Amino acid sequence: MVYLAGLGRSGSTLLERLLGEIPGACPAGEVVHLWLRSVRDDERCGCGQPFSSCQFWRQVGQVAFDGWDRVDVDRITRLRAHVDRARFLPVLTAAPLRRRIQPALDEYVEYYRRTYAAIAQVSGSPVVIDSSKHASLAFCLRSSPGVDLRVVHMVRDSRAVAYSWSKVVARPEAAGSQMSTYPAASAALRWNLQNSALQLLAQLGTPTLRVRYEDFVRAPAATLSEIAAFAGLPAGPDFGFLGTDGPGHWWAQLGVTHTASGNPIRFTTGRVPIRYDGTWQTAMLGGNRRAVTALTLPLLMRYGYLGGAA
Ligand SMILES: [Zn+2]
Repeated sequence: MVYLAGLGRSGSTLLERLLGEIPGACPAGEVVHLWLRSVRDDERCGCGQPFSSCQFWRQVGQVAFDGWDRVDVDRITRLRAHVDRARFLPVLTAAPLRRRIQPALDEYVEYYRRTYAAIAQVSGSPVVIDSSKHASLAFCLRSSPGVDLRVVHMVRDSRAVAYSWSKVVARPEAAGSQMSTYPAASAALRWNLQNSALQLLAQLGTPTLRVRYEDFVRAPAATLSEIAAFAGLPAGPDFGFLGTDGPGHWWAQLGVTHTASGNPIRFTTGRVPIRYDGTWQTAMLGGNRRAVTALTLPLLMRYGYLGGAA
């Protein structure tokens, strides 16, 4: 399975949609939210149907658990609170410490392993894409020998990410609800934490491919080819669903997908433009921009975002 990781608002949903168009890949959405938002709250699938009416997910639930009604969502929520949190990363990383939480960890990861296996079986796709993003879940999944985990670490300029987190975005799948917002400094610290954790994951030996959002939107065919090779999918660069109307004017033709949760772009079908979004460069307040730059300086430099590289 391919796990798309990184701080939210880094373009991972668009990347998941494009990867999902490659034959042999099945995009599942943010599986971390499947339990509460889909199984318990019956929010809409990416196909537009309520989760409980979507035939794809009904079959997945049947194969994985003998039906979703057999799944104890409260139990998963409690397990998650015990093992899948950013603050547990030191425990998840050190084997002697991990032993204490191993039984809960095994039980928690087993829900994901069964779900991925069922998605692969029902869709007929050997590669399942989970765009849950959180580093902590990737650390949980790496503990299971039953999950062939490959992590795509998506990074985006911290200033763009912080600017995006300051904006209010509606969640169409749940009337009246919105995606979370964070003040600039808080977004900067989350950016540091997620990216540092994902670098550590790679150092610990989990196969990890780092991709910059800015490179992806400027040359999507090249990025998709790289990820396809990494994931064992047929490589491009001639992906039938990708096209260009000239330099920097890429588009993708997107079909219907059964994604469990994620950015509102998961509902979009048909031709969508792929453009570099540099709004933050003119719209972000100077004080916020300076604060985020200062707080995230080491990794900004490491990823090539200073000195005109991006
Ligand atoms: Zn569906």
